[in-house]
Amino acid sequence: MLSSTQLAIALPGTEILGTGIELAYLLAASLFILGLKRLGSPATARQGNSLAAIGMLIAIVATLINQSVVNYQTVLVGIIIGSIIGAIAAKKVAMTAMPQMVGIFNGLGGAASALVAVGEYFRLLNETGSVSLDSGITTILGVLIGGVTLTGSFIAFSKLQGIMSGSPITFPLQQPVNLLLLAGFLGGSVYWLIHPESITTFLGLVGVSLLLGVLFVIPIGGADMPVVVSLLNSYSGLAASAAGFILMNNMLIISGALVGASGLILTQIMCKAMNRSITNVLFSAFGTGNTAAGVAATGDDGAPKVVHRVEAEEGAMMLGYARSVVIVPGYGMAVAQAQHSVRELTDQLERLNVEVKYAIHPVAGRMPGHMNVLLAEANVPYNQLYDMDDINTEFDQTDVALVIGANDVVNPAARDSQSSPIYGMPILEVDRAKHTIVIKRGMSTGFAGIDNELFYKDKTMMLFGSAKEMVSQLVGEVKQL
Ligand code: NDP
Repeated sequence: MLSSTQLAIALPGTEILGTGIELAYLLAASLFILGLKRLGSPATARQGNSLAAIGMLIAIVATLINQSVVNYQTVLVGIIIGSIIGAIAAKKVAMTAMPQMVGIFNGLGGAASALVAVGEYFRLLNETGSVSLDSGITTILGVLIGGVTLTGSFIAFSKLQGIMSGSPITFPLQQPVNLLLLAGFLGGSVYWLIHPESITTFLGLVGVSLLLGVLFVIPIGGADMPVVVSLLNSYSGLAASAAGFILMNNMLIISGALVGASGLILTQIMCKAMNRSITNVLFSAFGTGNTAAGVAATGDDGAPKVVHRVEAEEGAMMLGYARSVVIVPGYGMAVAQAQHSVRELTDQLERLNVEVKYAIHPVAGRMPGHMNVLLAEANVPYNQLYDMDDINTEFDQTDVALVIGANDVVNPAARDSQSSPIYGMPILEVDRAKHTIVIKRGMSTGFAGIDNELFYKDKTMMLFGSAKEMVSQLVGEVKQL
């Protein structure tokens, strides 16, 4: 396949077209970079998204104009199928299912790159009977990164969707088996580069890369899933870049590299949030929850542990007469779509001169930035949102910490109990506040599947019910103060 620059050389009359396409790609790449920069702050994120979308439109139109690259009928069929799936997904997929959707999209990106590599191999074989060393290396990279991203993302999707257990799946000699497969892949690649006509070796390499994706994600589970999702996101970018090298398309190389790099930065942020190194996440099955949801928890003496319940009326009094309240949103707020009621509660408390702040844990919810997106949707001012490091020093002076559908991110076991599967993960230290009110429907565990000591503390009051309903009740009661 010819790149637009090669096309210009091959057909002199198309020189201007070739230059125009490269310029359009340059413009699109600049818009991507500007877009990414603006995505760095909630205040400019919307604008950043629009800039990147315009960049993508320019890139697509420029690519479609280059007739050596496409066949319009196939593209049209692809656009129709893709648009239908996209429109249905946008309408039907709930905000809480976004991480699974991102997981699938990552996987499809990997699949596209792997298919490009496979297609290009067979094309070269048919047309020239061989594959040059440089084409061979890019093809192998496309197969490896694309294959791992495809199956790894589908395993991550199954874990997040609850189709598979979210706990790490381990088996004896897991790491040696993985290393052996990787060594086999490398050895097979060298053999195939010397004998590119061996279709069996090539298909074997495709199979091993798909298997590696599965084996790489199954031992990761529980609280580590945010790291995996962002890492796979980065891989999907690298896979696109590899496809760009195969097709010699600068746009694909640049945009893939941008996704790869930003995914890696996000992975690093997520690792920091979990207080773990990336090697630790990838190679030590962490977050194995073994406290089944619904099982009554018992104390050291074997007696059932007691929780202190509170009703909305009493909770509203505690909040309304407090000087400072810190709201900690979590996954349950997202499930209940309670963010607008939470904003209303804040307004009512501020009317009573209560100082209200929001504490945002980096892995609260089910996707990076989940809480920020929801609160921005409800027009909560950005300056009321505090990062974990900034707010943790304030809990000592906080009258009431109001936890709304959060669980793992406020679990003191991560700080205090060395035997806990999530030991070492930084938490929002709500148990240091003078009082803590927790809104959730029952005593179910969170994503990591472990019991939470916070719920049994003397200073903690449980307000049982769905987040939206309970916060609305609080709003009604606070209005009367
Ligand atoms: P958790 O998953 O720990 O807990 C959520 C709690 O919300 C549950 O215990 C549940 O209890 C409660 N809940 C569910 N529905 C409702 C409702 N309608 N109303 C009120 N409460 C409800 O959430 P956190 O935000 O604290 O922690 C996020 C977890 O997800 C972490 O373990 C993180 O590692 C993981 N994760 C995060 C990702 C990310 O990128 N942010 C991606 C993947 C995983 P009950 O059923 O009793 O109501």
